[in-house]
Amino acid sequence: MENMTWNQQLMKKNNKALVLQIIIEKEPISRSDIAQISGLHKATVSSLVNELLEEELIYESGPGESSGGRRPVILHFNKAAGYAIGIDIGVNYILCVLTDLKGNILIEKNEVVNRTPYPAIKNKVQKMIQSLMDEMPSSRYGIVGIGAGVPGIVDKEGAILLAPNFGWSNIQLKKDLEELYQIPVLVENEANAGAFGEQQFGACQNTDNMVYISAGIGLGAGIIVNKELYRGKDGFSGEMGHMIIEVNGKPCSCGSKGCWEAYASENALLEMAGNPSDTLESLITRVEMQDQTAQQLFETIGHYLGYGINNIINTFNPHQVIIGNRLALAKDWIEQPIRETIEKHTLGFQLNELELVFSKLGKYSTALGVTAFVVENFLKAEEKTL
Ligand SMILES: [Zn+2]
Repeated sequence: MENMTWNQQLMKKNNKALVLQIIIEKEPISRSDIAQISGLHKATVSSLVNELLEEELIYESGPGESSGGRRPVILHFNKAAGYAIGIDIGVNYILCVLTDLKGNILIEKNEVVNRTPYPAIKNKVQKMIQSLMDEMPSSRYGIVGIGAGVPGIVDKEGAILLAPNFGWSNIQLKKDLEELYQIPVLVENEANAGAFGEQQFGACQNTDNMVYISAGIGLGAGIIVNKELYRGKDGFSGEMGHMIIEVNGKPCSCGSKGCWEAYASENALLEMAGNPSDTLESLITRVEMQDQTAQQLFETIGHYLGYGINNIINTFNPHQVIIGNRLALAKDWIEQPIRETIEKHTLGFQLNELELVFSKLGKYSTALGVTAFVVENFLKAEEKTL
């Protein structure tokens, strides 16, 4: 590359990134198909492909389909060139997954927690990461990064400014994990990560405008506008759990009153149930056994979810609303009241072709969203060194 001008180097870098992108999206694919799709010369494609083969980011396999003439060797993305770790830190659970570079989960670890203070959470997360690292297969690039989704306000540098349901403020999870492992770490709001996970692998891969609602102990939203995650000026968008739906209403963990999450979250459900030993799972068991009180509780939560979703639909005019996180486990009992409320209140124009769906990825939306960010960053960083 020494004899190249800066412009030539840049062009080569971009072309190589383009070739890799085409292989990731279209694999299995031949060199000549890459040339056709990219508009690059066959010789250029061949030399870039050779470099990617050397870097083990792709591999070849035996003759593919021929359209007459010589049968071409086909190329695949090497999804096992490295692995990503995704952590979803909830108020009452921690989920850690190890994925390949295409978002397939190889190993997962689960822990139950309960509004645990940060030092103890950090310890648990560290142990979970360690056991994933001990069990993972060997690979060229090893762990390419760690991503964590948290229910709180995360700034662009990855500091958790506030996580009201944990009682956390100014938590430096990113810095702490980077110091421990010396690999790139990113921290993201869990609803934003969940929206990205659904966009990459889940329920809304073909939707340009979508709102993902993370309904757990708290409520948050991840907003995709024109295919891009909408982050707002400082990255604090989507705090829909704190939109006020009742003036002077119930107190909220954020210090305000009447917030949506005080009425429609898992926390609100447990508060209404009134028995400290109740959990979402125990209430689901009761409703499955036709318990009227439990049924009534889920109906109330569903109606309140519907009111907030009404506000969201009227604001964003999305094509899809996806409901995810733990309350999605109660789909069978909350879906009907949600739909009733929306049909009764939301402007009719908004409901044309609107799809209200539940998460396809279930509890994995956030963990897969952060690993998708990690892999994207890894491939971008690779391009910089090409
Ligand atoms: Zn609030």
